[in-house]
Amino acid sequence: MGQSITFHKADKLKPKPDGSKPLGFGKFFTDYMFEMDYSMEEGWHDARIVPYGPISLDPAATIFHYGQEVFEGMKAYRTEDKRILLFRPDKNMERMNQSCARLNIPEIDEQFVIKAIKQLVAIEEKWIPNEPGQSLYIRPFIIGTDPALGVHPSSTYKLLIILSPVGSYFGDSMSPVKIYVEDEYVRAVKGGVGYAKTSGNYAASLKAQTKSEELGFDQVLWLDGVEHKYIEEVGSMNIFFKIDDEVWTPALNGSILPGVTRASVIELLQHWGVTVKEKKISVNKLFKKAEKQQLKEVFGTGTAAVISPVGFLKWNDKVIKVANGKTGKLSQKLYDTLTGIQNGKIKDELHWIQEVKTDKQEGAKEKEEEKTATVE
Ligand SMILES: *Cc1c(COP(=O)(O)O)cnc(C)c1O
Repeated sequence: MGQSITFHKADKLKPKPDGSKPLGFGKFFTDYMFEMDYSMEEGWHDARIVPYGPISLDPAATIFHYGQEVFEGMKAYRTEDKRILLFRPDKNMERMNQSCARLNIPEIDEQFVIKAIKQLVAIEEKWIPNEPGQSLYIRPFIIGTDPALGVHPSSTYKLLIILSPVGSYFGDSMSPVKIYVEDEYVRAVKGGVGYAKTSGNYAASLKAQTKSEELGFDQVLWLDGVEHKYIEEVGSMNIFFKIDDEVWTPALNGSILPGVTRASVIELLQHWGVTVKEKKISVNKLFKKAEKQQLKEVFGTGTAAVISPVGFLKWNDKVIKVANGKTGKLSQKLYDTLTGIQNGKIKDELHWIQEVKTDKQEGAKEKEEEKTATVE
């Protein structure tokens, strides 16, 4: 797949969102998107950057009936000196292929899709917001497109990448969230698709999310699908507990999504010499630790919020207040370090950052070559 990417210019560009209003999450989309198709005969082909807009699919397309889909979520960050950084895009693409394998979707060429992301982000660089905490969210996804109702893997697919300028998850300062431990509904089971980033996991989670909101909570903490005893993860975040001087997180067991932020937090803590234990954690044991005042901090990890401190946990009739309902020291340090690396303020000692070069920065010669190869 050493294919080139064609560029179809838009007649008209959209106005950028009003800088004085909050961007929110995933509400605005840029002028262009990336698109590529798959067929048995041609493999992945026809890579192109086209004006953002609706796509046309047959009403019988696999995605609508059987949910054959995978997605990713990552961000492009703007540094103070105007460079554009991506955080571990290789990890996202590796995971995308793991999700593809589970959903019976043909593999992608990871390096090629990273190149596509970089080209798209470079074209859309004016859409990368500048304020602290803001970034350009990148959503690659693949859908099955066969126009047939038989239940079998699609033989044709579409990979799309869309971009959305997003605001800081927490206004000015981090504010701890309230979590409801869900013990009726479950998100995933071992042998299922819990470890894959696929739409069905979210469809299955909506009911419990609504329920927790009605009860005055922000998010759901999922327990294992069989015994409803062991902690798995939060809505779209992995979960960590600081117990005395150690940090615990549920071990990846097939039903938990292996977060890139999760992996990075573990590596960072180990780099700092903190003991991290990936283990099976029962909710009962966690609440016992809290009763004995050993539970010092709780935080979620994910691309959207990076680190999300948890202030309250409710399980049946028990409620625990964590770190006095405030942001703990370690949560704050992790947030400051990760966001510092992402926006180029802290040295990238662990080699997590990849830079996106824009046309202006590329050598003039290379630029000429790209033009002849990629412009329609
Ligand atoms: C995407 C996601 C996460 C977080 O993963 P990151 O790679 O850290 O963004 C956690 N849980 C679920 C269910 C997810 O879909």
